[in-house]
Amino acid sequence: MGEFELIRRFFAAAPCAQAGEAVALGIGDDCALLNISAGEQLAVSTDTLVVGVHFPLSCDPFLLGQRALAVAVSDLAAMGATPLAFTLALTLDTAEPAWLHAFAAGLSQMAQTCRMALVGGDTTRGPLSLTLTVFGRVPVGQALTRSGARPGDLLCVGGVLGDAAGALPLVLGQREAPADQAEPLLRQYWSPLPQLELGELLRGKATAALDISDGLLADCGHVARASAVALQIEREQIPLSTALRLFAGEAATDCALAGGDDYVLAFTLPEEHLVAVQAQWPAMQVIGRVLDGQGVQLVDGNGQLITPPRTGYQHFGNTDD
Ligand code: ADP
Ligand code: MG
Repeated sequence: MGEFELIRRFFAAAPCAQAGEAVALGIGDDCALLNISAGEQLAVSTDTLVVGVHFPLSCDPFLLGQRALAVAVSDLAAMGATPLAFTLALTLDTAEPAWLHAFAAGLSQMAQTCRMALVGGDTTRGPLSLTLTVFGRVPVGQALTRSGARPGDLLCVGGVLGDAAGALPLVLGQREAPADQAEPLLRQYWSPLPQLELGELLRGKATAALDISDGLLADCGHVARASAVALQIEREQIPLSTALRLFAGEAATDCALAGGDDYVLAFTLPEEHLVAVQAQWPAMQVIGRVLDGQGVQLVDGNGQLITPPRTGYQHFGNTDD
């Protein structure tokens, strides 16, 4: 099977490549063309997943397709952007039809959930790797950046944390668990749902936002630095699922603090907006506050400082903070 047949059969023909209203021209030309309205900005983000680093070679290709897109779209949610389209740069060792079919089906499933179309990409031979670029639209000036947090704001998260990190020993086949624990944790790992509606809801309300991909502590560190403030996290307020508590026991909080792969939004919110956001997004939780100063502080129920566990994952070592 040649490169062009592969693109036609598995990607141009996939449900996710059937153009939506935002797509003036999809797969097949030198560029795709997207429609955006006056008064909107284009939000763009790229993520790469490499076999052996981000996922095991033996993993289910349907789940991989779902997860690859979800992880990329989460950045649009974090910016308060509405998805338009995405591209896929795919590097493959072998063109295995069953694998490609299942992968494209997983991709299509998540694309449908997020209401976005596959509009182009690139296909090359080499060790398996996926690069997805996502495009979204956001009203001019309303994107949620990392740099606007102000002392006095509340620090909030969009839902329970740590499930995906807790699932890792299950994903890697290092541990087993009863179905009532394994299923919810694995679901959160393989098909996280980008918090798009929350991001849109936070436009004009949150002062800063990001999606938690490297662990709560590391990602709050990014907001603290970009906003030149300190973030204080109350350990007892971090929301954890029952499945994670049962499976990880004492280590559940550390999964949330340092684990990563959550793709849940963290945001800073002036107190006056709390009731309105809570009413529309009941899973949100206030976990701390923005203070004068710098860095991230973790405190216990009595306000005493706690030494945090290891911080989040970095590809080239944890030496540049
Ligand atoms: P070019 O040589 O002009 O860069 P290609 O031959 O690489 O174009 O690709 C042909 C068309 O197929 C383009 O529209 C490109 O965006 C699309 N395409 C290539 N690979 C993929 C892929 N994996 N998924 C979706 N579209 C793809
Ligand atoms: Mg090309």
